[in-house]
Amino acid sequence: MTTYKGVGVYAGRVIGPVLQMPKPIEEPKDGLRLSGETAEAAAQRIKDASVRVKEDLLARAEHASRDGKAVLKSTSQMATDRALIKSAIKLVETQEMAPERAIWEAATSFADQMAALGGYMAERVTDIHDVRARIVAELTDQQAPGIPVSDEPFILAAIDLAPADTATLDPEKVIALITSDGGPQAHTAILARGLGLPAIVAAKGVTEIADGTVVYVDSNEGIVDTEPTDADREAAIKYANRKPVADFDGQGVLADGTRVELYANVGDGKSAEKAASLKAEGVGLLRTEFGFLGHDSEPSIETQAKTYKSVFDAFPGKHIVVRTLDAGADKPLPFLNVNPEENPALGVRGFRTDWTVPGVLTRQLEAIKAASENSDADIWVMAPMISTTSEARNFANMLKEIGLPVHGVMVETPAAVMNAEAILGEVDFVSIGTNDLTQYTMAADRLLGDLAHLNNPWQPAVLKMIKMTVEGAQRASVTAGKKKYVSVCGEAAADPALAVVLIGLGVDTLSMNAGAIPAVAAVLKSVTKEKAQQIAAIALQQISSAEAKESARKALPILDELGL
Ligand code: PEP
Ligand code: MG
Repeated sequence: MTTYKGVGVYAGRVIGPVLQMPKPIEEPKDGLRLSGETAEAAAQRIKDASVRVKEDLLARAEHASRDGKAVLKSTSQMATDRALIKSAIKLVETQEMAPERAIWEAATSFADQMAALGGYMAERVTDIHDVRARIVAELTDQQAPGIPVSDEPFILAAIDLAPADTATLDPEKVIALITSDGGPQAHTAILARGLGLPAIVAAKGVTEIADGTVVYVDSNEGIVDTEPTDADREAAIKYANRKPVADFDGQGVLADGTRVELYANVGDGKSAEKAASLKAEGVGLLRTEFGFLGHDSEPSIETQAKTYKSVFDAFPGKHIVVRTLDAGADKPLPFLNVNPEENPALGVRGFRTDWTVPGVLTRQLEAIKAASENSDADIWVMAPMISTTSEARNFANMLKEIGLPVHGVMVETPAAVMNAEAILGEVDFVSIGTNDLTQYTMAADRLLGDLAHLNNPWQPAVLKMIKMTVEGAQRASVTAGKKKYVSVCGEAAADPALAVVLIGLGVDTLSMNAGAIPAVAAVLKSVTKEKAQQIAAIALQQISSAEAKESARKALPILDELGL
């Protein structure tokens, strides 16, 4: 038996066959010419391949979830786009280009044109790249890219998942995710928590498991076994028969009635509507940069205001925290991140872009103000990536000038933790971004699978950082004579056991992927404030993330009942 060990990101125990994510299709060699076939035959092959790709995408749409269906149907239209196929055939006829190279070049130039047009057109670029890879795969007899299709439920193994793959992931078919790369705060982990899907990341070697091999996945322990034992089978059956997590009723409370407001992290109007339909109590983090990704230039104030308004409208009268642009590092925006950097995570990102490209932040605040004027949502605004008290003061002054009344910053750097009291002398609230706070505390890139064990918010050093922030806020509240709020909006809030620890440490509110709220709410409801404080105190004393997590889980029997 082979056992692979990784970092579990959403607990579960399942047994099933593995299907590997196909390898990405590589670009056919530049200068590849026709060989052994006429231009006419090659042109016909392009046409046939594009039709087969279209049919395949439509067949996949039948298996996909609601959102995935729409994505696949629109991509399928692109596969047989007349202009695209015509320009590929022209390259074959006029330059004797091999068909796979011709479709690659034609699609690339199409995608570049779309990207240059910006807006909705630019959003099609991913579709075109997908279609390009699929037609090349057809022409060269390779397995189609994307999530494999199967009638049977399976465990998906991959190096990591691209955001584009996730739209087509059907949780009825994919019963667990195992990846060799990625970290517990990176994209795949966020997705798995949102879908409530057992998942293990950074499990080296899982991409070597042969398709069809039946494995046991225990994503609480972070292990994948290739020969499930009887005990594994029993554990999987127990998990399959777990008590279902109840839908969230719209009010987070502890067992003693203490209110803990549970908010959603969203990126645009659509995700806000979804969060509202799941009864999130508001938005604890609007990642505004998500609305800008794919834009080559800064959207106008009107365009921005429209996007923000669509989020506000999903939560009339409710609490919404808008975060200003967090561009840079893994979310670069061409108009803000202008200089190449060797260490982008330590570079010009978040609030710092206001120093290198002044004006964008002010205009964004004007857009937020404009959107807020036509809304009755309770709008708070915060800046990401703050490291000094004077940055917090400067940001608060910008908000005052524009007339936005509630001021906050994120705590994502150890420097902000150390200065939490002083920072909260300048602003009304802080929101702890545990994803970045973990990477900067542990000096471990949050995207790096090899460092996933360090990049874990259960690390006692990170828990102590959170405690220090809360203590700073308590002192600042006394000085100011009014409550200064501390929220957590990083992935840590989406882990039900860690959520208990956070509340026990004195955090006021939590914000997470809306899909994670029901499980967090159910577990919080099982403990009193006093019990949460005890659990947190014990976790703080541990010497490793594994022991901290284990100590908290042991005190929370409901996790086992709910299979979490
Ligand atoms: C964080 O760092 O925890 C956070 C919420 O911000 P982001 O994940 O967008 O960097
Ligand atoms: Mg962050």
